[in-house]
Amino acid sequence: MIAAGEVIERPASVVKELVENSIDAGATEISVEIQGGGVELIRVADNGVGIPYDEVELAFQRFATSKLSVAEDLEAIATLGFRGEALPSIASVSQVTMVTRHADADSGARLEVLESQVKAKTPEGASPGTIITVQQLFRNVPARRKFLRSPGSESTRVQTLVTRYALAYPEIRFQLMAGRSRFASPGTGDLLEAVAAVYSLEVAQAMLEIDTLDEGDESGPQVTGVVGAPTVDRANRNYISLFVNRRWVQSRALNVAVEQAYHGFLKERRFPMAALNISMPFEDVDVNAHPAKSEVRFRSQDQVFSAVQHAVRQTLTAHTPVPEMRRAQVTAGGFSSAPARTATSFWPVQPFSRAAEAAGPTNGEVVAGISGNGPLYDGPLSPKSALPVLRVLGQVQSTYIAAEGPDGMYLIDQHAAHERVVFEKIQADAAAGAPEVQMLMEPATLELDARQQELLLDNQASFAALGLLVEPFGGDVFLIRGVPSILAEADPASALVDVLDEMSEGGDPETWQERAAYSIACHSAIRAGKVLTHQEMVELTRQLEACNQPHSCPHGRPTMIHLSATHLDREFGR
Ligand code: ADP
Ligand code: MG
Repeated sequence: MIAAGEVIERPASVVKELVENSIDAGATEISVEIQGGGVELIRVADNGVGIPYDEVELAFQRFATSKLSVAEDLEAIATLGFRGEALPSIASVSQVTMVTRHADADSGARLEVLESQVKAKTPEGASPGTIITVQQLFRNVPARRKFLRSPGSESTRVQTLVTRYALAYPEIRFQLMAGRSRFASPGTGDLLEAVAAVYSLEVAQAMLEIDTLDEGDESGPQVTGVVGAPTVDRANRNYISLFVNRRWVQSRALNVAVEQAYHGFLKERRFPMAALNISMPFEDVDVNAHPAKSEVRFRSQDQVFSAVQHAVRQTLTAHTPVPEMRRAQVTAGGFSSAPARTATSFWPVQPFSRAAEAAGPTNGEVVAGISGNGPLYDGPLSPKSALPVLRVLGQVQSTYIAAEGPDGMYLIDQHAAHERVVFEKIQADAAAGAPEVQMLMEPATLELDARQQELLLDNQASFAALGLLVEPFGGDVFLIRGVPSILAEADPASALVDVLDEMSEGGDPETWQERAAYSIACHSAIRAGKVLTHQEMVELTRQLEACNQPHSCPHGRPTMIHLSATHLDREFGR
């Protein structure tokens, strides 16, 4: 009755099955260790319920499961596992050692299985829980081994998997040791803390909690979790994690639902971050559709699709109000009476498209600063759009520089402004054939997947023009020997991966160098929230004044807002 099949394709599939077993066993701590990309060794230890001494061998028998009692249970599966297939499949292609102690027992058992044959079983003192060690994976299936990628990229898959489960189960403390990489989630039950562990504190702070104001139908799918504010967009879809009843699922349709909810919030070819769980009655979802249980079927796909889209859209609109400056114009009420705004509320709801930029000043007086003069990205830069000399007054919210000009006041977004400065500099250096390169004392290594490698090799010369010196090292490994000096402070490997991710989303091949340049600029630009000295603000403002296109960042967002003297006078009733 089960959609059985070969579930063990690679080390990450072993880790997936073992971690799911630990979760089903009620563990609150799960630690995963791998060596040699998981081919040499995989060890998963948990503090779950364990297995009684007499039943240890049974766990390795095909189709033996403790999770279903009658066939009808298949109609409403509440556990991650249900086929009794994983342990026997793993044990048939490796050497497995299980040490387990049931919560109610005084001591535990140790079982050794080699290619499905039980070799030894002995009592063993152990703390409650289960430790499974899988060695020499595919020792007897050379064909399967040949299919594997390098240890580094197998290891990356394992890391991705463990971090997804850390997002799905914030109350479980996960640990991962993979070669020199370490990952740990706090297990506090707080999703944002898990997000901070998986990505970064900065990302966690930019996450919006799903709030569905009108709760709607309680019996239908309920969407919870977090989505990224439009400011933390990414170059591909890998940062969208979807769970159905806390099972990590791959679903094109649901990805699309999330992406569509961001329509108008993100630029083209940029993707959101999200960690969403859809909880729904077990009988409304069929998890028995796919051998790896990673694809599911819904009784009503449309209902789930619209629940996801609606929840995300509602959260985004609630958190990203229309810029108040413009609203003030429409209502003729002064912006001085507008309620306090968050650091991001000036960001336009509609990202400024090329077309809008080309159309010139359409945004009215108060935001006159963002009016473009000619297409932003195309061809030789247009004559300088005048930016008057500004006198820096101070910093607002560690994010904006307040300055005075001949005609009123300017608020400059420090990140956007710096992005613009860096972008123009590296473009100019590249055009002059003289990038400023910082050679690394010790070359940084990084592992790339096939697509990234292809992009890199096709464009190696142009990368060099930007100051990014990368060369193949053998296998999937590449060496970064030098980086644009502007990136000297950043992590070169992650900068390069981001550039390649962004490029791999396709698009107009002619603009790839610009896209790489944006990405470098974005990586090296100072962040919002960074306190700047007066001197630094003056310096940045000077550099911005010298730019060809000072009014917008390379992504088309405004670098500044201008409050004209006339406007100020009017607002104060002078
Ligand atoms: P399934 O998860 O589909 O039941 P598996 O082959 O993965 O099948 O596991 C077989 C059985 O072994 C499980 O049903 C469970 O009773 C037991 N088991 C496996 N791993 C653990 C674990 N970490 N802790 C406790 N019991 C486990
Ligand atoms: Mg299982």
